[in-house]
Amino acid sequence: MIVVMKPNATKAEIDGAVDKIHRSGLDVNISKGAETTIIGVIGDKKKIANLQMNMMPGVEKTVRITEKYKLASRNFHPQDTVVDVGGVKIGGKALAVMAGPCSIESQEQVDEAAEKVKAAGASFLRGGAFKPRTSPYDFQGLAEEGLKIMRNSADKFGLKVVTEIVDKDDMDLIGAYADVFQVGARNMQNFQLLRALGRQSKPVLLKRGLAATISEWLNAAEYILSEGNPNVILCERGIRTYETFTRNTLDLSAVAAVKELSHLPIVVDPSHGTGRWEMVRPMARAAVAAGCDGLIIEVHPHPEQALSDGDQSLTPKNFERVMDEVRSIAAVMGRTV
Ligand code: PEP
Ligand code: MN
Repeated sequence: MIVVMKPNATKAEIDGAVDKIHRSGLDVNISKGAETTIIGVIGDKKKIANLQMNMMPGVEKTVRITEKYKLASRNFHPQDTVVDVGGVKIGGKALAVMAGPCSIESQEQVDEAAEKVKAAGASFLRGGAFKPRTSPYDFQGLAEEGLKIMRNSADKFGLKVVTEIVDKDDMDLIGAYADVFQVGARNMQNFQLLRALGRQSKPVLLKRGLAATISEWLNAAEYILSEGNPNVILCERGIRTYETFTRNTLDLSAVAAVKELSHLPIVVDPSHGTGRWEMVRPMARAAVAAGCDGLIIEVHPHPEQALSDGDQSLTPKNFERVMDEVRSIAAVMGRTV
């Protein structure tokens, strides 16, 4: 349930409402807007059903929430969340662009990618050191050596680091090098991992599962939020459909849906979303036109030599072209890149 306070509700009235909720054995999540304060009520369903708030002074109305996720819901938190990664914001006016290779392979490879993506306007270096590969015989990543390479390149060129965590036991190790933890599609419902990430404060980029509904995805975000970490960024990366021409079907309608249902920022991954480098540019343009808060794109200095996802990786030159085009679309959307 949410309790919407009147625009002129006094502090005493808000405190009174919160006090009544607490006395009923329930918890609150308060969202203060420019005009109204919204109190989200969290806890036991039966207690919420018995809670009478409509007659309290300063209360405008109460609204029953049917979705299971609450902290992720826009009903609970009408204003957009802006995640601040050491001064670089995700969810504000400026689009956040994350770019780099699928896998960290060598210092030379990452340095070249980092230098070029930074020059083209990216603010995050992406790359995997722990790779969740479909086959156990494929390249699994350089682990800590990869993290060191990535941090080194990112610091050299003034970028933030976003990298995937697949095992919660690696959290301290990865956290020592990364600015943002990425939860990959295959781990979207690894609830132990989500809870562990919720108990620390670094932002989490939560990719949509291969066959996850939007509701399941927002519930996965709720696992992180409910443990106390408010810094969640959603990432649409395509879902499994009957189509085989593309690796996945990039669901850009999810951007509009998430904007309606949630206050969390959403970035789009047209690389995994299509699996084909030629399609990354048009889908990046479309994602920005759909209203996303950023992009995550695979860029490799030599895609033909990539140890993973070469088919969907852009050359630095093609990435620059994407950025030029995205900049024009962003301007139409009232955003900057
Ligand atoms: C990746 O970002 O390289 C990756 C493995 O992505 P996903 O989890 O979306 O497949
Ligand atoms: Mn990849």
